[in-house]
Amino acid sequence: MDEQAFLAPARCFCEEFEGPKDPALACSGCKVVYYCGAAHQKEDRKSHKAACSFIKQTREKLEHEESALRNNPGAGEWCMPADVFTTRVGRFWSIDGTRAYMKARFAAANALLLVHTIPAVEMALAHFTDMLRLNRNDDLGVADIVPVLLLRLDREQECYDFLKWWAVTSAETDPEHDYADVNLPYLDIHGADALEREEGIFQRRGRTSLSHLATLTLLKLHFFLELKGKFTGHGTTKGRSPSQQIPKTGGSLMETRTSQPKALDMIQMNIQYSRLMHAVNNANQHFWELLVDGATPVVPKGAYPPAPGAIEEAHLALHHTQRAWQESKGAIKTIEEQDIASPGAKIIRVYNPEGAKRPIGDVARWKGTETLDLIKSSKPSDAS
Ligand SMILES: [Zn+2]
Ligand SMILES: [Zn+2]
Repeated sequence: MDEQAFLAPARCFCEEFEGPKDPALACSGCKVVYYCGAAHQKEDRKSHKAACSFIKQTREKLEHEESALRNNPGAGEWCMPADVFTTRVGRFWSIDGTRAYMKARFAAANALLLVHTIPAVEMALAHFTDMLRLNRNDDLGVADIVPVLLLRLDREQECYDFLKWWAVTSAETDPEHDYADVNLPYLDIHGADALEREEGIFQRRGRTSLSHLATLTLLKLHFFLELKGKFTGHGTTKGRSPSQQIPKTGGSLMETRTSQPKALDMIQMNIQYSRLMHAVNNANQHFWELLVDGATPVVPKGAYPPAPGAIEEAHLALHHTQRAWQESKGAIKTIEEQDIASPGAKIIRVYNPEGAKRPIGDVARWKGTETLDLIKSSKPSDAS
């Protein structure tokens, strides 16, 4: 899991192939991966097949549900208004008849995320964003996923604006907010300062989910690592596939805010992400351990949202954000080292059946994957 993960522009593994320029080069099954030609497509088929057929299958199910909803024979009756796509925008879930469609769309969007290409993430994001437009109350937990996808796509400003809107409009900070009232402003924060010290807003109980807290931690960590890289002369936050070795490390916000690196900004980012790490830990003590261990998240089957503090909540947040962490060069390692560097505030609990002391201070020894694997394999609960 320590291997650098990439968000590939297209998927084809050859150096020359830059990205999806020609729609004719898209895989006809999933339509979100691209190849330079038939030879490489054939070569990749074996490893791509499962995700590809699943995406196709969920897309067809969604198409079926959508046409059923649009041509609903019960439309116009009291329980099923005509043309919900124009008359019930923002309040979809309150109409029972829309739920099969919304669930199918949720499944189709999630399936797209099995493929780690920019077109796949963009398409999933488009689904989730439109689902929020149709159903502001977000009964399926779509809002948990939107900001982390924006971050993966280097859209840091939109990511922060989204997180902030959701936090300040939470049940606690704005108890008057009525999600069913489509005349109220919605997601209308634009251009908020992503480097501001506003951790407090996010730590209040309300609509700030564990996934949002983890995403915000990663966003601040991106800035920190980027600034640190500028000072030390190496290291960038974003991993890039070999076919895209351009020195791009983030979106335009990242470029602007780190083009003239200030030591004070770096220190601020360090303080902020550390505080957020603790906020995540206060909300759920399982999350960091699962992330650092490289655990495979198990998506909880129960109702959304899972109970605050429960391991199911940690698994769901890991499911949402794990890939973004893995695509951020040095992020997981920084979290782990931060923990070791401040033993007094140790927040990653490590299962240790032998009772052996973790050698605090001997950081290098604990950096490698071997140690983690050892910890993992000695965990009886991991024998899934
Ligand atoms: Zn190729
Ligand atoms: Zn495909």
